[in-house]
Amino acid sequence: MKKLQYAVCSALFLAAGLVNAQQEEKQDRESGHINENKFRQLYQEMSTPNMYRTAAGAPGAAYYQQQADYKMDITLDDVNAKLSGYETITYYNNSPDDLEYLWVQLDQNVRKKDAPGLQKNGSGFGFATQPGRFVNSYMKDPFDGGFNIEAVTDANGKALSHTINQTMMRINIPKPLKAGEKISFNIKWWYNINNHVEGRGRSGYEYFAKDDNRAYVIAQFFPRMCVYSDVEGWQNYQFWGNGEFALPFGDYEVNITVPADHILDGTGVLTNRKEVYTKEMMKRYEKAKKTYDKPVIIVSQKDAEKAEKTKSTKTKTWKLKAENVRDFGFATSRRWIVDMQAVKIGAKDVMAVSMYPKEGNPLWEEYSTKAVVSTLQSYSAHTFDYPYHKAISVHAKNQGMEYPMICWNYGRPNEKGEYSDRTKFGMISVIIHEVGHNFFPMIVNSDERQWGWMDEGLDTFMQYIAEQEFGEKFPEAIKGNEKYPSRRGEPSKIVNYMKGDQQYISPIMSNPENVYQLGNNAYGKPATALNILRETVMGKELFDHAFKTYAQRWMFKHPTPEDFFRTMEDASAVDLDWFWRGWFYSTDYVDIGVKDVKKYYVTAKPNKEAKEYVAARGRTVADLPPLVYLVEEGSEDYNENMKGSSPLEGATTLKEYVMDNFSAEERKNLKTPKYFYQITFDKPGGIPMPLIVEYTYKDGSKETITYPVQAWRKNDAEISKVLATDKEVVGIVVDPELRTADIDMSNNSWPKKETESDFDKFKNKVKGE
Ligand SMILES: [Zn+2]
Repeated sequence: MKKLQYAVCSALFLAAGLVNAQQEEKQDRESGHINENKFRQLYQEMSTPNMYRTAAGAPGAAYYQQQADYKMDITLDDVNAKLSGYETITYYNNSPDDLEYLWVQLDQNVRKKDAPGLQKNGSGFGFATQPGRFVNSYMKDPFDGGFNIEAVTDANGKALSHTINQTMMRINIPKPLKAGEKISFNIKWWYNINNHVEGRGRSGYEYFAKDDNRAYVIAQFFPRMCVYSDVEGWQNYQFWGNGEFALPFGDYEVNITVPADHILDGTGVLTNRKEVYTKEMMKRYEKAKKTYDKPVIIVSQKDAEKAEKTKSTKTKTWKLKAENVRDFGFATSRRWIVDMQAVKIGAKDVMAVSMYPKEGNPLWEEYSTKAVVSTLQSYSAHTFDYPYHKAISVHAKNQGMEYPMICWNYGRPNEKGEYSDRTKFGMISVIIHEVGHNFFPMIVNSDERQWGWMDEGLDTFMQYIAEQEFGEKFPEAIKGNEKYPSRRGEPSKIVNYMKGDQQYISPIMSNPENVYQLGNNAYGKPATALNILRETVMGKELFDHAFKTYAQRWMFKHPTPEDFFRTMEDASAVDLDWFWRGWFYSTDYVDIGVKDVKKYYVTAKPNKEAKEYVAARGRTVADLPPLVYLVEEGSEDYNENMKGSSPLEGATTLKEYVMDNFSAEERKNLKTPKYFYQITFDKPGGIPMPLIVEYTYKDGSKETITYPVQAWRKNDAEISKVLATDKEVVGIVVDPELRTADIDMSNNSWPKKETESDFDKFKNKVKGE
């Protein structure tokens, strides 16, 4: 008879929490909390899907993007550290809109001596400051590194009206650029190159006083088109220094004229290699193309040391051509050492390249190119095959900055050539990070000006995976460590930030100009969130497929945060609105604890509550259907009726009683737990997370149960769970492996981990003496 079975189930259900859940929901509704439900969909926060961007998170039927092609002639004046250029931009209006004007970015204007950016922060005095900073701030005129725009002309050489507003220039075209049309125009410019070691910034030169030479890493060096899109219209939010760049894709032909004894490399295919390389370099280069196991030296330290001793007055022009890139950067100096190694990515050969001054050795010849190769392999496996023909790592002091196919990286031994583990791993990590930026945002081209986390967070997340894989590939490189010592990515590493003063924390979904602690906000927290999402919430298989889908959908396109959030759900069937809300839209933190544990005894005899329940309704226990009764250990009912009983009182009779109506076959499959616990978990933290609980039993065995995050959906504060088990529970720990970034572990254990009181400490000390 199925009726009794049903009664048993519902009685257990009743005891286990149905009543609780109903009460909780009622409380929520009455207090208005139901609108605050953390599991409600993100309809208010997210933009509405449309023909440009689908509800699935993919480019829509009407998706478009603009294109900007550049032809440039650039000249470096090494004596005066000046860069000048003449560029022709061809801009394609692929949008359905007619454009009355065009916006061009003049990033160097952030270095104008009267730039508002210099005064964007409050200032004041501490009790001391570094001499260099003091001199720069109060004893020197500000460096003048802004653009000097000498001419803006149309295709016929006629002057074009233009208006400069800080770092943005509006080109006032005579008639609107219609949908589907293109326009070409020219800009002639020059600027003073800054010393990036003194004044910081993402590009400039380092000066080597000993031999009076410079090493240049040059970027944001030419007027660049703004992005025009369905999301922002013209993205002309000023460059204030923190929010990086938003750039359209295009084809580049760039001729760069530098002293004849310089070695140069940059974005794109070097089309005149034979003209600029020596015969010896060509020979070594041909060898590198076929060498997959170790770097081949193209320019040796000896070559570089010889070159630094003299200065050529002649020039050479290096010609680079790049297709479908969003930017262009280059590095040039007579001091570069160069090595290269080929790496197979899919069916294609890619060249991994390093350029560094002798100050980088012996660290750079050992690890730079290795790190480039390993990064291309790791990122390609998790996203898409690296599509470009090369990836260059350039050593520049204190720099960590990325451009298509080329990046600048720090990490330098001391003058004796010695370096610490910290320097070594810092250098390998920054190379992995910056080479990784080729994927995000150089190819998956998000808007860095608005959303720092979309490239930094995704890249730092991938960096963690790539670092771990580097450690597995090169065990000798990490010797002394169990695994690669990643600085970011592990949940425990973000705890201090997340439990910090709320006044200095912003949601990840913030513009980089407006946040405190940009490193934690745009790098550490999103990277950790994604790592937790992968390892603890979604699982690697579902996550990896969805992440790859996002990367492939938006490869060579412009995604928004919603496109990422939606794709991750769409490709996995995991509802993640609660996760994005908690981790990306709020400053909440994770804190889940175990609050209370109750042990129950089970009996067929009606307990006190049941008697009171029926009495209140003018009935007697005889009117009750057959039920299983639960009596809490230590309760009045227990003390009166069950004290001295075994946990499963009348086990034999109870078993027969509940099994009465089962067949022999069915009985055989029934479990007969001996212990019944009701455990209450509370959640002082705002972010709901899966409830990972480790139970330790009296026989020493352990069992981990993960309750889904949905357990919190009807009560954000606490929930109870029943554990019916054969073995007595002696310990409970929430999140035992530190997988959720729980900020307070003091409430995670039952019984509470006893910390020695001051009195006990004193007592023990006295005893000891
Ligand atoms: Zn970065």
